[in-house]
Amino acid sequence: MSTDVSGRSSRFGPRKRIPKARYSAFGLLRRGIAGKPWPPLWRRCELAKSYDVVVIGGGVHGLALAYYLGRNHRIHNVAVLEQSYIGSGGSGRNTAIIRSNYLTPEGVRFYQRSVKLYENLAAELNFNVMFAQRGHLTLAHSDASLRTMRWRAEVNKLIGVDSEVIGPAEIARLAPFLDVSTRTRYPILGALYHPPGGIIRHDAVNWGFARGADAFGAEIHQQTKVQDIEVESGRVTGVVTNRGRIATPIVVNCTAGWCTLIADMAGVRLPISTSPLQAAVTEPVKFFLDPVVVSGSLHVYVSQTDRGELVFGASVDPFTSYSTRGSLAFTEELAGHILELMPSLARVRVLRQWAGLCDMTPDFSPIMGPTPVEGFYVDVGWGTYGYKAGPVSGEQMAALVATHQTPDLIAPFGFDRFADGRLLGEKGAASVGH
Ligand SMILES: Cc1cc2nc3c(=O)[nH]c(=O)nc-3n(C[C@H](O)[C@H](O)[C@H](O)COP(=O)(O)OP(=O)(O)OC[C@H]3O[C@@H](n4cnc5c(N)ncnc54)[C@H](O)[C@@H]3O)c2cc1C
Repeated sequence: MSTDVSGRSSRFGPRKRIPKARYSAFGLLRRGIAGKPWPPLWRRCELAKSYDVVVIGGGVHGLALAYYLGRNHRIHNVAVLEQSYIGSGGSGRNTAIIRSNYLTPEGVRFYQRSVKLYENLAAELNFNVMFAQRGHLTLAHSDASLRTMRWRAEVNKLIGVDSEVIGPAEIARLAPFLDVSTRTRYPILGALYHPPGGIIRHDAVNWGFARGADAFGAEIHQQTKVQDIEVESGRVTGVVTNRGRIATPIVVNCTAGWCTLIADMAGVRLPISTSPLQAAVTEPVKFFLDPVVVSGSLHVYVSQTDRGELVFGASVDPFTSYSTRGSLAFTEELAGHILELMPSLARVRVLRQWAGLCDMTPDFSPIMGPTPVEGFYVDVGWGTYGYKAGPVSGEQMAALVATHQTPDLIAPFGFDRFADGRLLGEKGAASVGH
C-alpha cells in the first residue's frame, strides 16, 4: 500500500505503465501485412466505488490532468467522468489555434509553457498531433490597435516569446491573398507577427492524452454524467453520477461551458457566464494560406488546414446560452468580413458550421486552483482560448493536486483574484484571436 494524495493509504500503489502498441511506419507495415488490428486507445472499465481523484470533463483539460497526475506524480487511481464522449465539448469543436503572444506577462508566461509542451507532444505521446507552426498574424486596422500590437510585442519579447510588429509589405509576403491596399474599408496598417503560432489536430491531442492517461492507469468513463457533488463539513466526499456514487476526497471541475452547473453542485459560485462560439469550414481549395490570420476589428480569423479547407471563426455570440446551433446571422457577417480581407474567396463554398460553449470570465483569463470547499478544485474560465492551454494546465493542476501547493505559473489565475480585485485584463489579446 502507498499513500494517496490526501495522505491516506491508497488501494493503488505506484504501478508500472500499461504497455501500449507503438505507432511507427514499421508498426503500420507489420500490422498491415499480418492483418492485425490496432488495440483500442484506452480501456473500458467498470466504475469503481472510490478514486483518489475524480476529474469531471473529458476535454483536453481533464484528459491532460489525468495524464500528468500519472506521469509526473504517480497518482494513478484517477477517474475522468465524461457525460458524453471525450472531445464532445469545446475540445472537439475548436479551431485549433495555438499561440503564446498574449498581452499580460502572466498570460504570456503561461501560454509560452504550453506551446513548449505542444512542440514535444507528438513524440511524448507517440501520437501524431500534427502541430504546424506556420505563424500567426494579428492585423491592425487602426492606430489604436497598432499601439496594442506594439505593446504585446514588447511584453512578448521581454519574456522570450518571438513576436514583432510588421508592415503591409511583409504581411503581403507572408499572406499574398490578403488585400493590403489602401482602397479597402479597413486598410491593413500593420500586424503582430508570431512565428511559433499555428494550428494542431485537436482530436489527435484529445485521443493522445486519453491514451497516455490510460497508460498511467487513469480510467476514462464516457456516458457518465455527474449529477451531484457531496460535501460534508466543508470538504468534498464524493460525486453522484448516472452510474452510481463514487467516494473521493478530490474533485477537479474541468467542464468549461458547463462549469458553473458543476460548481453550483458543490455550493461554489463562479464569476462565469456561458456563451456559444461559432465557426465554419469551407470546401478544400489548393493550398495558399500559410499563417493563421486574425482581424480583431473585423471579428474574424482564418487558417487553412492540411486538407485545404479554410477554417473561419469569430467572437462569441453576444448572449448567454447553452445552445450549440449555428445561425445564419453568423455566416452572413463572417462572409462579409472575410471578403473584406480576401476578396478572391468570393466563390468558395462554406461546407459546414457549428458552435461550442465558452465559459467567459470578466478578465478573459482562466480560473485555476482551490475553492472555499476543501478538495474541490477548478480548472475553468477557458472562454474562447483554452485549447492551447491544455498541456500546461494539465501539468500545473496535477502539481497542485499532488502537492497542495499552487505552482507559481498558475498563482495569478486563482479564484480569490475576484474578491481581491486582482483582475488580469487579457481581453486585448484573447477576445477574437483565440
Ligand atoms: C468554435 C470554437 C473555436 C475555438 N477555437 C479555439 C482556438 O482556436 N484555440 C484555443 O486555444 N481555444 C479555442 N476554443 C476554446 C477551446 O475549445 C476551449 O477553451 C477548450 O476546449 C476547453 O477545454 P476543456 O477541456 O476545459 O472543456 P471541454 O472540451 O468543453 O470539455 C468539457 C467536458 O465536460 C463535459 N461535462 C459537462 N458537464 C458534465 C457533467 N455533468 N458530467 C460529466 N461531464 C460533463 C462535457 O460533455 C465536455 O466534454 C474554441 C472554442 C470553440 C467553441
